[in-house]
Amino acid sequence: MTQAPWVHIVGGGLAGLSLARELARFSSLPGAVVISEAREDYQDDRTFSFWCQESQQAFLKPQSLCPDWRIGDANQSYLMRGHHYSYATRSSIDFYDEALGVIADHPAVEWRRQRVEAPPQAKFVFDSRPPSVAEFRVVQSFHGMTVQLERPHGLTAVGLMEDLQVVDGRVRFRYVVPLGANQVLIEHTEFSGTPSDLDSLQQLNKDWCISRFANGWTELRQEQAHIPMGIRSQGQDLGIPIGTRGGMARDSTGYSYVSIQRWAQKAAHQLVCRQHYTPYQRPAWEQWMDQMLLRLIEQRPDCVPNIFCALARNLSADAFARFMMNQTPMDALRIVAASPKKPFLLAMAGRPQWI
Ligand SMILES: Cc1cc2nc3c(=O)[nH]c(=O)nc-3n(C[C@H](O)[C@H](O)[C@H](O)COP(=O)(O)OP(=O)(O)OC[C@H]3O[C@@H](n4cnc5c(N)ncnc54)[C@H](O)[C@@H]3O)c2cc1C
Repeated sequence: MTQAPWVHIVGGGLAGLSLARELARFSSLPGAVVISEAREDYQDDRTFSFWCQESQQAFLKPQSLCPDWRIGDANQSYLMRGHHYSYATRSSIDFYDEALGVIADHPAVEWRRQRVEAPPQAKFVFDSRPPSVAEFRVVQSFHGMTVQLERPHGLTAVGLMEDLQVVDGRVRFRYVVPLGANQVLIEHTEFSGTPSDLDSLQQLNKDWCISRFANGWTELRQEQAHIPMGIRSQGQDLGIPIGTRGGMARDSTGYSYVSIQRWAQKAAHQLVCRQHYTPYQRPAWEQWMDQMLLRLIEQRPDCVPNIFCALARNLSADAFARFMMNQTPMDALRIVAASPKKPFLLAMAGRPQWI
């Protein structure tokens, strides 16, 4: 009879591979680590975007960095210039290749192509299978394309949330990231209680490329998804839930790359050095702030563009980036101070319908 592994990780995406990679950095492990992944092969299926300080670059490994980003609606556009933070991107394939390389070099860590449907036997079992869309509280739907341009685009800032508007009760915006002089990632995103039609979002991307670059662009790749903004309930866990399943994606934004990288490093250290795991817990401040924003998206989406524009107008870029990446109670207070008071106070009081 073969011995059960010490750690079994179900799902080898961002969270599963990050934990396995961090465990594999320890030359000596207390037992075997198995990571089971259902997919056939890894593709460049997503772009991880995040805010990053210079001191974090060796750890987070950005491939593009831009200190300027814009937020605006049809009437106004605010430029935010980070002094300590830049907006960064990393392609998923770069992350997968790096993690799989570290894992392959460790004799006690085994990556298996295997779909797991029942709880595996191991001292620690982690479950990173994504929750289903039916379980999302608010859905962030987007379609994105990386396009190659015949001429330089001339963009000097990331379009973080451009042309913010509400269409049929859905908060919609355009997102544009320059990836080099002749390449951009263009996405259209909607926040709503139900998933958006991804084909319509794709058409918006094409229309924007035509209006901006005429015929001088070629599509290189696509990505699209419905991402949870809050999870109501979820099916049976096969182990300790991690990644999006474990609430590691920020409710108000869907961002999770940085929180997962930090968590994986800490969790691996705890597991190896103390044979112990402390469940992931998002800070209470963050949950409180995010609940208010979700309430507004659900009940008063018409107020949301104005809130983001007010944040861009009233907050420093670094304070905004800090809020997005590693909120402290102080950052939360700055956000409240920079927001239009009435929507926030009424959302806080659970009465957004009175706005
Ligand atoms: C297109 C896209 C773009 C995104 N962009 C950003 C971004 O810019 N910034 C950011 O911070 N976040 C972003 N996210 C959100 C989040 O960072 C990612 O979804 C991230 O991949 C979540 O990590 P995860 O490990 O929870 O899930 P995943 O990376 O999806 O991993 C789950 C894994 O489990 C596997 N699996 C499922 N069922 C089984 C089973 N039964 N047995 C074994 N394996 C199974 C899947 O094949 C998958 O590999 C994006 C997400 C998507 C989809």
